[in-house]
Amino acid sequence: MTPIYDVAEIFRSICGEGGLVGQRAVFVRLAGCNLHCRVENVGFDCDTVIPRSSPMSADCIIHHVETVGKGCESVVITGGEPMMQLSKDDDDALLRMLHAKGFSLTLETNGTYEIPDDMRGYFRRVNCSPKLGSDIKLTHADEVRMVVGDMTDIDAYVAWVDSIMTYGGLWLSPAWDANGPNRDAIGYIIAWILINGRVTMTVQQHKLWGLR
Ligand code: SF4
Repeated sequence: MTPIYDVAEIFRSICGEGGLVGQRAVFVRLAGCNLHCRVENVGFDCDTVIPRSSPMSADCIIHHVETVGKGCESVVITGGEPMMQLSKDDDDALLRMLHAKGFSLTLETNGTYEIPDDMRGYFRRVNCSPKLGSDIKLTHADEVRMVVGDMTDIDAYVAWVDSIMTYGGLWLSPAWDANGPNRDAIGYIIAWILINGRVTMTVQQHKLWGLR
C-alpha cells in the first residue's frame, strides 16, 4: 500500500544555517514532533511545528517539489521530526522516489530515531539538532547544530554530544527573541568559541533575510 505522509508545508527557499548556507533548496516539512521544546526545557520555543498539515502521497509530494522547485535539485526533508514518518518503512517510498529522480537529499532530525543503513544511503547529508537529555538513537551526523539560549550550558552540551555520537561539524546558533538573535546568547557563544575553538558559530540567516 502506498504510504501517505502528513505534510505541513513544501516551499523553496535558501538555506540559512550550517554547511548549505546560502544555497537554494526545496524544503519538505513533515508534520509532528516527538519532543516539545520550550524555553523552560531547552532555552528556546520551537517555531517549526506547524499546527496544520495535509495528507499527501509520495507522488503528490514530488509533484509539489518539482512545481515549487522550478529545477532546484536540493531537497531538505525537515520537520517537526521527519523520522517519525520516514522510519515506518526502511525502504521509504518518498526517499526512494526522490533519490531516483536525482534530487540531492538532506535530512534534518533531532536524532531520537535510528536511520536504517539502506535509508541513510539516500541522503547526501544528515543534520542533527539533538536536545540535551533526550534519548538519542542516531550515532553519526554530518552536522550537529545547537540553538543556544542565554542560560545554556555549552560545556555540558558539547560534552554530552561527544559522548553520544560522532559528527562532521558542530555549529552553535543563538536563540531568537522578538528583537532578533538573542544578544546574551551571541556573547556567550563568542566567548566560548574564543576559548575552546572546535565549533562554528552560525545564525539562522534565513530569518534575517525574511525567509522561512
Ligand atoms: S525537536 Fe525541533 S521540531 Fe521538535 S519540538 Fe524541538 S525544536 Fe521543534
